[in-house]
Amino acid sequence: MPRPQPKSTRNATWNGGKTGRSRPPAHSPVIEQCTTEGCGETAASQPPPAGWVRTLVGGSRHPARDWCSGRCATFGIALGEVCSKSA
Ligand SMILES: [Zn+2]
Repeated sequence: MPRPQPKSTRNATWNGGKTGRSRPPAHSPVIEQCTTEGCGETAASQPPPAGWVRTLVGGSRHPARDWCSGRCATFGIALGEVCSKSA
């Protein structure tokens, strides 16, 4: 039985060897707070950085927001829908 790869090696491979701020692993629990700077904040007038996702939940009073990944955007959309239903 082969030994599983260390997580650090997997992350480096997944990240393409890039350095700098890293995103949370895709398998992180969705309730975990994203630590990426600017993630989930109200969208600015300029487009979001490359690879980011901008969401605007229809029927919600929440403003458009920028997310660092699809995972965060999905969570944000779900949160917006929950809030709009309870409003
Ligand atoms: Zn994020």
